[in-house]
Amino acid sequence: MRLEACSWIYTIREITGGSTVVEKTGGAGGAAALERIFAGGRASHAYLFLGPPSAKKEETVLHLAQILLCTAEKGKPCSTCRSCRLFLRGSHPDFHRIAPEPDRIKLEQIREICRTVVYHPYLAENKVFFFASFEKMTEVAANAFLKTLEEPPPAVYFLALAGNEEMVLPTVLSRMQRVYLGQDPETAAAAMDGPADASLPEEELLAAGDLYSLLRLAEVKEKQERADVDAYLLSMAAFFHRRLRENPGDRRYFRFLQAVRRARENLAANVNLRLLLEDLYLSLYETGGMERTNN
Ligand SMILES: [Zn+2]
Repeated sequence: MRLEACSWIYTIREITGGSTVVEKTGGAGGAAALERIFAGGRASHAYLFLGPPSAKKEETVLHLAQILLCTAEKGKPCSTCRSCRLFLRGSHPDFHRIAPEPDRIKLEQIREICRTVVYHPYLAENKVFFFASFEKMTEVAANAFLKTLEEPPPAVYFLALAGNEEMVLPTVLSRMQRVYLGQDPETAAAAMDGPADASLPEEELLAAGDLYSLLRLAEVKEKQERADVDAYLLSMAAFFHRRLRENPGDRRYFRFLQAVRRARENLAANVNLRLLLEDLYLSLYETGGMERTNN
């Protein structure tokens, strides 16, 4: 498996003040750079790999994990040392895969990680915690994770995959290096959001202060499939995220995003669709209304 399989690799560096710089490195060059960083022992301790979920994306990140665990002097990963062989067999004692149980990454799982990170690795020089769907972490679990994520012991690495950074708490995001794998994020966002100037019907209803129409919308959407509602919530999150980027000082968009995140948690927890949509629209309305009174 070579990293070159990915067409694009983007890294985003967080700059103070909330703005970000995107460094674009095409295909092989970017991939090789990432591999060199890991093999040279210069990897950061927490990475969030973004982009549409795919087997290739997961393979890429597992390849980086293998580099961290390989005990060869050079040419990592060698695929022949004991560490590499155990890793490839899926039984490396210093590699921990954290999966949603059954559909969320829960507080108990994060507590267990925070408790065990302090122990030395058994076999390799490093310990790797791998999250296949990082966005499935509950908010309370994410909050419990912050301190460890910020200052893990030196030999600990967190490698996480997520489809959308919008679904990860900003406090968590700011503690991780973000890397886009596989696809140009602008193209991916455009494909998901539609034209950049499009507005959501909700936004127009909010601007008009029309709560009644919003609740009617909940009634209509209630009849959709849950997967469709989830896609709708994701596109709504992407929309608010874009608005936030355009207006970084506007706190409303944080609250809108929080409301959407809660709605997705409720959706995953099988809460009645009508209830969760009404709750979402009421929160949006309240937040929008707060702004109106402030003006
Ligand atoms: Zn090896």
